Amino acid sequence: MKIKKILSIQKKITDKNIIVNGWVKNRRGSKNVFFISLNDGSTIENLQIVCESKSINEEVIKQITTGSCLSVSGLLKTSDGSKQTVEVLAEKILILGKADADKYPLQPKKHSLEFLRENAHLRFRTNTFSSVFRIRHSLTFAIHNFFNLNGFTSLHTPIITSADAEGAGEMFKVTNYDLNNIPLGENGEVDYSKDFFGQKTSLTVSGQLEAELGALGLGKVYTFGPTFRAENSNTSRHLAEFWMIEPEVAFADLKENIDLAEKMLKYCINYCLDNNKLDLEYLNMRLKNEESQLKKELRSESSLLERLKFVVNNEFKRLSYTEAIKILLHSKANKKKRFRFQISGFGDDLQSEHERYLVEKEFKRPVVITDYPKEIKAFYMRLNEDEKTVRAMDILFPEIGEIVGGSQREERLKILQKRMKEMNIDEKHLWWYLDTRKFGSCEHSGFGLGFERLVMFVTGMKNIRDVIPFPRTPKNAEF
Ligand code: ATP
Ligand code: MN
Repeated sequence: MKIKKILSIQKKITDKNIIVNGWVKNRRGSKNVFFISLNDGSTIENLQIVCESKSINEEVIKQITTGSCLSVSGLLKTSDGSKQTVEVLAEKILILGKADADKYPLQPKKHSLEFLRENAHLRFRTNTFSSVFRIRHSLTFAIHNFFNLNGFTSLHTPIITSADAEGAGEMFKVTNYDLNNIPLGENGEVDYSKDFFGQKTSLTVSGQLEAELGALGLGKVYTFGPTFRAENSNTSRHLAEFWMIEPEVAFADLKENIDLAEKMLKYCINYCLDNNKLDLEYLNMRLKNEESQLKKELRSESSLLERLKFVVNNEFKRLSYTEAIKILLHSKANKKKRFRFQISGFGDDLQSEHERYLVEKEFKRPVVITDYPKEIKAFYMRLNEDEKTVRAMDILFPEIGEIVGGSQREERLKILQKRMKEMNIDEKHLWWYLDTRKFGSCEHSGFGLGFERLVMFVTGMKNIRDVIPFPRTPKNAEF
């Protein structure tokens, strides 16, 4: 039986013989009785195993060390102890896998997140990481559930792409050339015609362009897949390989797009509040402890659980880029030169310090900024009447900053071609994208949600490397 099941049906099944498998979190005891905390990953809670020396052989007991893997058969019974309601009185213990006590890296004490990152192959066994990855699973499930319930078709867009014009970030090249002997053309540049795909290819930075093609036939689609950016940014919010959720909806304008994103984010957070209570309570406590070590001004104003409940119960603040710039321009922080990047007026790109100011100081809630200057946004965003701004939207979250970037797409062929020309994007690479504007084009919108940023928000983890099983960052692709 799984420990989650044992602990959830508790009293009804006591005095029953069961078999339970798991890893030893901790062991303590004396010569005659010996207690093991066993965990199997199904829940953050451990099951107490009681071993009496009269039934378990001394040789076996010696090998039961922290980290070893056991199969225990015994009697499930009501516990006399105050910490647990049930326990298992062991009748037989099989050591499935020993763990050398001197060498096992995860001792029963607090380890730093950095240390656990270096031991990412074992960190699934800790309370923190098992909680994070159970929540990551719940969020994955909630996302698919949300779109399915709302009539979306899931679309797997390609990971290898020849479209390098999107401009969302630096791309990783895909080739099967022998890197020591790359065919060059007459001009001395790489001759891709002899390469595997007969053209230059890369790992995708976004599935959006292909998702748009799907939406203009299937109506409502979403992709949920890996994306890759060779950005050498090395921040706590960027990975070289991350997962993105990208819905595209035909006949939807920018407002409907924001409504969809808000509804979806709230659905996912609620799903975790309902289904990951123990994990969230643990992470809530963990964050409180961690922040208690910090100086007062660095602590969050609210706890993790308060934050999650606040977000699901309140409307996101919506305002235009122009209004946001006005607020920032007149803010004390800007006047007293407290921003690293001063705001001077319309046209400035918002840095994460500005985004966090708006979310955490000005509005104290998630903020949606719309209608950015066309110069700082992608070519496919719909041009507004003012011809200066585009129908873009970014959703900014407390502690995280940008979590969603989206827009209403430019559906008018002429204007799209003009924008591509202005931004030096060669039409010939995107002929298929332009085709959708030639044949039965319509108003449509979509967005990209960075999955790990959502996991960070829900778990309260402050480094993106701690919410993906095996992070890929500059100079790091271990495991
Ligand atoms: P940022 O300004 O934070 O780098 P961006 O403007 O490059 O983000 P988009 O191209 O709009 O982001 O991508 C959509 C979403 O994907 C972002 O809102 C963010 O949640 C997420 N995202 C973008 N880049 C990364 C990355 N390198 N690692 C993890 N998530 C990312
Ligand atoms: Mn970026």
